[in-house]
Amino acid sequence: MAIKGAVQIDIETCKGCELCIEACPQDTLALSNEINKIGYHYAVQIEDNCTGCINCALVCPDAVITVYRQPKKKKNGREEVARISNVRSDVTISINDK
Ligand code: SF4
Ligand code: SF4
Repeated sequence: MAIKGAVQIDIETCKGCELCIEACPQDTLALSNEINKIGYHYAVQIEDNCTGCINCALVCPDAVITVYRQPKKKKNGREEVARISNVRSDVTISINDK
């Protein structure tokens, strides 16, 4: 059975570059018709088929995507597995893939 994932996107910081949309093998993401407060169409999750592969988070130049993956032993809740942060200087990548 496929692993269940989900993404959280900081829509007010997204610049609508579409890199995450291109990188997603599941076609889970798309640009919203709405515009955020800095004037860009922002990325949103449009399908419930995310596998938590983290491709989108890795390519996002603004580091606004957090990926969650459902824990294998828990049926409820979600677990953060990848967060890209601090892109203005050194890049920190932390992956919890247990
Ligand atoms: S984690 Fe993978 S499957 Fe999920 S939205 Fe991002 S690229 Fe697509
Ligand atoms: S890669 Fe990042 S900045 Fe570009 S559209 Fe996706 S979430 Fe927005």
